[in-house]
Amino acid sequence: MKSFLQQNVSQDSLITLFSQAPVAMSLLIGDDFTIHSANPQILELWGKDDTVIGKSLFEVLPEIQSQGFVEILHSVYRNGEIFKGNKWPVFLEKYGVSEEHFFNFIYAPVYNDDRGIIGVSIVATEITDQVISEKKLKDSEYRFESLIKKSDYSIAIYSTEELFIEFANEPMFKTWGKDASVIGMKLEDALPELEGQPFIGILKDIFRTGETYTAKEDRVELIVDGILQTFYYNFSYKPLKNPSGEVYAILNMAVNVTDIVMARKEVQESEKKLRDLADSMPQFVWTCDHNGQITYMNESWYRYTGFTENQDQTQLVKAMMRPETVGKVDQAWEESVRTSSPFVMEYELEDPKQKGNYRWFLGRAVPNFGENGEVKQWTGTFTDINEVKQLETQKDNFLGIASHELKTPLTSLKLYTQFIKTNLQKSGDYKNADVVKRMDGQIDRLTELINELLDVTKIQKGQIQLNESYFDFDQLVDEVVEEQQMTSRHKMVVSKLKVGEVFADRHRISQVMANLISNAIKYSPDADEVHISSSLEGGRAKFCVRDFGIGIPADKQSKVFDQYYRISESRAHTFPGLGLGLFISSEIIKRAGGEISVSSVEGEGSDFCSRIPKNKN
Ligand code: ADP
Repeated sequence: MKSFLQQNVSQDSLITLFSQAPVAMSLLIGDDFTIHSANPQILELWGKDDTVIGKSLFEVLPEIQSQGFVEILHSVYRNGEIFKGNKWPVFLEKYGVSEEHFFNFIYAPVYNDDRGIIGVSIVATEITDQVISEKKLKDSEYRFESLIKKSDYSIAIYSTEELFIEFANEPMFKTWGKDASVIGMKLEDALPELEGQPFIGILKDIFRTGETYTAKEDRVELIVDGILQTFYYNFSYKPLKNPSGEVYAILNMAVNVTDIVMARKEVQESEKKLRDLADSMPQFVWTCDHNGQITYMNESWYRYTGFTENQDQTQLVKAMMRPETVGKVDQAWEESVRTSSPFVMEYELEDPKQKGNYRWFLGRAVPNFGENGEVKQWTGTFTDINEVKQLETQKDNFLGIASHELKTPLTSLKLYTQFIKTNLQKSGDYKNADVVKRMDGQIDRLTELINELLDVTKIQKGQIQLNESYFDFDQLVDEVVEEQQMTSRHKMVVSKLKVGEVFADRHRISQVMANLISNAIKYSPDADEVHISSSLEGGRAKFCVRDFGIGIPADKQSKVFDQYYRISESRAHTFPGLGLGLFISSEIIKRAGGEISVSSVEGEGSDFCSRIPKNKN
């Protein structure tokens, strides 16, 4: 019985169907696979025209012989089994170019009316474009996957609102303190410690809102190594949407910033401690940047001044200074900045609550250096020294008045003593005359001390007068040495190179020489010699005294020229004095345009040298 198709559909219609079907079709007849018919689609696919009709397939497409098609076609032809090729790769020589194409095709046996196989039919569709784009997608998926696998960021993908862990890279496993066994689990089951923390809620919300969520230095508690620990993360939850805009998954990227946050917290804590410390101090503590701009003032400052933090403290401090001192302070400050060395200066600041009333402050600042040795900022203090200053002034005034008052009776005493001494000598009472002579010596000593005090008062008031003139420097050295030698058992070894005439205050220079020699004698009680030298050095008259006595510790050498600096308390009685001689000497030498210096080794002795210009400048 004939089929419905054979009975009802005309041969022409079948041919039309065959030729117009959107798939490629061909009929191969005989065991040499002669092309009986081929529709335009298959001709296009082969890159041929209808001249191929009547020719063997392998004659038309010789290149496919080596690609397995001979065997397949023969097998279909022989066994009558349909062969389906899926995404089959074929190299075809089309228009002179050999290229790989991909096909889905079906080879089916063609029967005659007696069920005998007479040929093979081909139905094929070219899917080259599809295969290539699939391949490209696969490649990019592969690249993406290996990228996130290798990433230093912790990355995970959660799918559906249930938040199944679809993917997580190694760093994310580490973050969680888990391994790959959590893949496929719900996030809340994999990390039960997230309960009570906001993350699951935020993630679920994103399925509704479709909006990316980012967080900076967010705190998260995770059980890692069996212990609930606190971490800090920068992270983002980014919704992944399908073409219709629905969120189907969330991409979670995270960076562990625990170390940075902890380090900063530590810095903040220690900074707070320092601030608390600074705030608890009665002094005014401040910091400023390298331009001198104040960046911080402690609470005591704001309490004292009544200023507020949003005011420019740098300007306010300047406005508090006496106008005539601003320049000097600036100069000293610039010098400290230039040399990166500590700033120390005493100056007055106006009491902000009592206009016109100034108080003395000690301003100090030390540079804080950065890693490369650059000054990062300055830390400073203002200490109220007003009372100390007042006491100092009172003391100086008292000393000035007292020494002045003592001087007059002492001068009379000296005259009376000399009178008595002369009379006793005349009357032959040498014993008592000798006592009076010693008394006279003590009066001289007393006069010296009072003169020292008077000199200091003069220096402080800027009243020291220099009576400068030309004098013979070498002769002065001889005179001073001779005078000192009279009252000393030390042998004075003098080595003089001619200096000649010097323009200076002869009396004051002799005072300096005498002071250096008497110190050398005083501070070398066990030595027998003091070495004195003078010479001309680069247009300057140099005078040095070297002793072999107790010496001066290295850290004290720069202090010996300070007012009232004295030898240590424990030895003060062995070596009496007021601690003024070197201060006065150095002031005299400075006024003369010279300088005074010391080099000393403790226990071995000291070498003091003064240098003054030979001629008037
Ligand atoms: P005074 O001798 O009255 O103490 P000075 O101003 O002359 O005061 O000296 C200050 C300090 O310097 C002394 O107390 C002493 O410690 C130290 N000094 C001065 N000269 C010498 C010296 N030649 N050897 C050791 N120490 C010295």
